[in-house]
Amino acid sequence: MVVETLKVKNMLKNRKLAKHIADASWYGLIQKLAYKAEAQGKHLVKIDQWFASTKTCAGCGHKVDKMPLSIRTWDCPGCGTKGIDRDINAAINIRQQGIIKLRAEGLSVPANGGMRKSGHASVAA
Ligand SMILES: [Zn+2]
Repeated sequence: MVVETLKVKNMLKNRKLAKHIADASWYGLIQKLAYKAEAQGKHLVKIDQWFASTKTCAGCGHKVDKMPLSIRTWDCPGCGTKGIDRDINAAINIRQQGIIKLRAEGLSVPANGGMRKSGHASVAA
């Protein structure tokens, strides 16, 4: 399981965002996920929010300079992919970063995402 940690305090300064974030109770959600993951012997990987998940093309790794919140889909100048969905692209990037982290910790993570460490602890990303 891979989640992106967000600087909620900073984001609450943005009035437009504040309501959504407060509603989602992001921090509480991560706490619950961590608890559930541990109970099932799974790993919860937290990706630091500085990682440019939204601005980086999940296909080719090209990073664009700006990605205003109003933009929901974009075209990648690096590989020419059209209509990249902002959120799906970010989710793929976060997942990839999580897998890199898990591998760095010595866990084997198959490319298909199904996961298992030799023996007991299975890992979901
Ligand atoms: Zn690209």
